[in-house]
Amino acid sequence: MFEETQQEAFARWQRTYQRKAWRPKADFGRGGPCASRYGGLPWLAQDEVWPQCQHCRRPLQHLLQLNLADLPEPEGPGLVQLFYCTNREAGCEDICEAHLPFSAASLVRLVYPQSSVSAPVKVPCDGRTPYTERLISSWRELPRELPWFDEAWDLLEAKQTPIDRFWQKHLDEMPDPSQGDKLGGWPRWIRNVEYPLCPRCYVPMELFFQLANDHLPLRFGDEGCGWLTRCPDHPDELAFSWESY
Ligand SMILES: [Zn+2]
Ligand SMILES: [Zn+2]
Repeated sequence: MFEETQQEAFARWQRTYQRKAWRPKADFGRGGPCASRYGGLPWLAQDEVWPQCQHCRRPLQHLLQLNLADLPEPEGPGLVQLFYCTNREAGCEDICEAHLPFSAASLVRLVYPQSSVSAPVKVPCDGRTPYTERLISSWRELPRELPWFDEAWDLLEAKQTPIDRFWQKHLDEMPDPSQGDKLGGWPRWIRNVEYPLCPRCYVPMELFFQLANDHLPLRFGDEGCGWLTRCPDHPDELAFSWESY
């Protein structure tokens, strides 16, 4: 009977878990309401009030809008939008633990624009202006990614694979998932492997977009990194969390 060598088992493991990832290219400029962008104005429905922080009730800052139809592997209609409270005076980031998913001081959602013409958008009314718009004009494919060391270890343990010296050596030599902003791939975790659970099916979410500090004037803690995650079975269930060093 055919018996798989460890080398073959490792190759098979790599094939199972490798994922595509893309780096956004962001340019200064103005795009239509549904364009993929950092900062600037989000698409809002007719007469919609700008999304507010559930703590200070001030308008949230718009960080990111991704048009699913414009992704390198298009997904059909819909915009993923990420908002975050930057009201330092009210301390929302600390009080609402905005680094955790489902915080009252952040909002991530999937909306389906009825038309590509957004309502005349009212700019946040508290004196803060939206961040400078950076249009996502194209995507560059990155080398295929494998999970971060700790996560790879967890995945192997979950499959009851004995992690002997062979596996340890190969996990050690595996390149880390890339840092910086990217679509897809594996999270480049900072401390812990921590996926939010889908509120509907309680399955761990998966990375949708990794948001570092590449194109926004916002810092997540001390050189932190954020992760926009999504349920593999419920694409409208999204979460945002971040960690810092
Ligand atoms: Zn707030
Ligand atoms: Zn789900």
